Amino acid sequence: MSAQPYKIPVHELDATKKRVHPRFVKGKYQNIRLVSMYFLLALFLILPWIKYDNRQAILFDFADQRFYVFGLTFLPQDFYFFAFFFIISAFALFMVTVYAGRVWCGYACPQTIWTHLYQHVEKWVIGDRNKRIKFDKAPTDAKKIAKRSLIYFIWFIIALITALTFVSYVVGTQDLYFNWQSAGAIPLPNWSGMTLIFIGIFTFATYVNAGYMREHMCTHICPYGRFQSVMFDKDTLIVSYDYNRGEPRGPRKKGTHPDHLGDCIECTMCVQVCPTGIDIRDGLQVECIQCAACVDACNEIMDKVGYPRGLIRYTTERQLVENEDTKILSWRIFAYSILLAGLIGILLYTLTDRVPLEIDIRRDRNQLSSMNAQGLIENSYIVKITNKTQDKHNYTIAMEPQDGLSLQLRFNELPLDPGESYDMPVSIYGDPAVINKGQTPVTLTVTSEDGTYSVSKENIFTTQGQ
Ligand code: SF4
Ligand code: SF4
Repeated sequence: MSAQPYKIPVHELDATKKRVHPRFVKGKYQNIRLVSMYFLLALFLILPWIKYDNRQAILFDFADQRFYVFGLTFLPQDFYFFAFFFIISAFALFMVTVYAGRVWCGYACPQTIWTHLYQHVEKWVIGDRNKRIKFDKAPTDAKKIAKRSLIYFIWFIIALITALTFVSYVVGTQDLYFNWQSAGAIPLPNWSGMTLIFIGIFTFATYVNAGYMREHMCTHICPYGRFQSVMFDKDTLIVSYDYNRGEPRGPRKKGTHPDHLGDCIECTMCVQVCPTGIDIRDGLQVECIQCAACVDACNEIMDKVGYPRGLIRYTTERQLVENEDTKILSWRIFAYSILLAGLIGILLYTLTDRVPLEIDIRRDRNQLSSMNAQGLIENSYIVKITNKTQDKHNYTIAMEPQDGLSLQLRFNELPLDPGESYDMPVSIYGDPAVINKGQTPVTLTVTSEDGTYSVSKENIFTTQGQ
């Protein structure tokens, strides 16, 4: 076996690759992968059907500018929560990548999941790898057209279900599936033009992505795929071929191990199972989504020929090349963990501390103040009240007592439905004999009928203009 120092080669992209027909393999990592992928797929399909407080638990209602997430209502001014959430997710992904490599790509990315589904359809209709390659090369006849049509039809159905599920997060399952109209004798779903357009776009995108783009999306378009090599270091988990153990590769008689050969029997099984069509023995490649299919395939071969498993395995550069233990517990992991825990803590605190009632006080822009018939100075305001709970509430407005100032309301109580906003005109009167000249701070408090929710805001009462 070769004992020369080895450096893991890094390969550039090959955009001229032919269509990949992977062989489906069984093994430990593929089982974990399938559980992860189908769990996430089921979550995506089921979540829009879950109800919370008589409303779709997760609904991104863009038309009314309201997002509902399990009993929490978010208005446009709350969207910083989502921005913060995405920052945390991006940081978590970065941290996971530094330590565990591209686990997201191999085990959870929608592109991987849908490509896997589409490739399974091809396998189901045509057969395993060799049959699919032969099928591609075969001349077109009626049987080929029929099989291709069946594949395209199933792909289309999967794409349509995906698009409908996507849109149901925005439109709501109720409106999407149970709102029908009749055009003559034919019942048709009562979808707006926008809904139809988005169903069309998502169906097309899913079909093209999973049917044709596949690994090209990961290698040429996805920014994460392009950047991941920058995040890798010597202790990052990677799927790698043990060059020193495997080379020189070559076929041999069963049950033998010629001295001049390494452990790789050149069966090419690792290449045949690769969903992106690369040869892991060539080194680190951008196309490698670290799905570990080649690990399972090679382990199966090693078992068959009676060699130890792990010729292709999850390892790190430090372990494989420098023959040292991987340094997992470094100052970096503590720093990253503390930062991530801090960010999640801040998000949870702001979410739980948030009062689902919003008020905004705007002064009448036309006039600073006016004098009424009784000789009192009047300031006018608009108090915008938004009920951000999932229940109906009656709200009252009160002013913090202030000598010489009194509050006048159009209604004593304001009933608001869940998510509803109302601009309430409010006037404050001041007796010029009692109040200070100039500006006086005033505080208005809006309270729900049972006192559960209460928010105060300050503004100014002014005598200017008199
Ligand atoms: S599966 Fe293992 S033995 Fe077969 S070619 Fe790949 S590395 Fe060599
Ligand atoms: S090289 Fe191995 S781990 Fe990488 S994508 Fe191919 S099969 Fe998956």
